Amino acid sequence: MAKERRRAVLELLQRPGNAHCADCGAPDPDWASYTLGVFICLSCSGIHRNIPQVSKVKSVRLDTWEEAQVEFMASHGNNAARATYESKVPSFYYRPTASDCQLLREQWIRAKYERQEFTRPEKQEPYSAGYREGFLWKRGRDNGQFLSRKFVLTEREGALKYFNRNDAKEPKAVMKIEHLNATFQPAKIGHPHGLQVTYLKDNSTRNIFVYHEDGKEMVDWFNALRAARFHYLQVAFPGASDADLVPKLSRNYLKEGYMEKTGPKQTEGFRKRWFTMDDRRLMYFKDPLDAFARGEVFIGSKESGYTVLDGLPPSTQGHHWPHGITIITPERKFLLACETESEQRAWVEAFRKVVDRPMLPQEYAGEGWEGRPGDCARTPCGPDPLDACPFCSGSTLQA
Ligand SMILES: [Zn+2]
Repeated sequence: MAKERRRAVLELLQRPGNAHCADCGAPDPDWASYTLGVFICLSCSGIHRNIPQVSKVKSVRLDTWEEAQVEFMASHGNNAARATYESKVPSFYYRPTASDCQLLREQWIRAKYERQEFTRPEKQEPYSAGYREGFLWKRGRDNGQFLSRKFVLTEREGALKYFNRNDAKEPKAVMKIEHLNATFQPAKIGHPHGLQVTYLKDNSTRNIFVYHEDGKEMVDWFNALRAARFHYLQVAFPGASDADLVPKLSRNYLKEGYMEKTGPKQTEGFRKRWFTMDDRRLMYFKDPLDAFARGEVFIGSKESGYTVLDGLPPSTQGHHWPHGITIITPERKFLLACETESEQRAWVEAFRKVVDRPMLPQEYAGEGWEGRPGDCARTPCGPDPLDACPFCSGSTLQA
């Protein structure tokens, strides 16, 4: 009998909606919440286990199932649960996938079932009101210490601001919603709720790193930023559909990690730098938590003259790491070296993904990041004389 009941549960996995985890979309879930009636993956079952007042979990394959539990699963299932618990998810709200950090997945599950935020829209006020203020721990640029700072997000002003003193009249920084991105970076920041916020200042990318001890607060901030971006984009692109705008609200990096690079003359020797591939922008930093990039390189498409090659030109010298990559742009060659072969393969794959994707008309404007030497009006041209200028990559600029 127990065997038959388990087979009955296994058969339910074949029903529409049940072949993927109800919470993160991972394929072939083999756990279930028998109080909510959803099939979930092992990883999400661990989160459900921490909310026992709402969810009780069982393994589909290993546990014993009671007749009433089988019937409950049969009369509910993932599609029915979605219709209930996700009936009013705002378009801008971030729905995590299996590859997202624990914090995002946990807060999504708690928001759905424990707090029932998506059946009661009045509970969405913390991220949908268009205004939010509160304190976040912000990493100091010079000493790396986290200090409590007041942050204010206002859609009306189209900005996120923070203040160095509680009673300060003038904000320390005004980050325009238009150019803002937020991405969770727990490993890099060293805190499970660590969020990286990037914005443009004087036309160059700036980073700040923040967290809140309370997971709900942090994810509410994240979704409030997405909501502000959504409303900004709706005004800026009145004809665009939600489906067009939602992917633009925030983005994760395609890849990050250390590589070695040479300067533009390729005679200066290789230096280890932290690289971030953000859409078509390859940025490099001396330290992963630097406030601004030492250089930015625009990576266009193959149709516009960009190529990525395995290895380095035969005459190349001075690199310590053995696994080379050559990026050819219409202006110059970038020589990079990775410590391991698997890193090299991962980077080449990330670069090719971008190079193989045709450029959108608005992306041609971005090519300015790698314009001609002299296009750039800044003095000195780059923050590090051995590195390419972030604006024109000019080879005439080096000391
Ligand atoms: Zn899952």
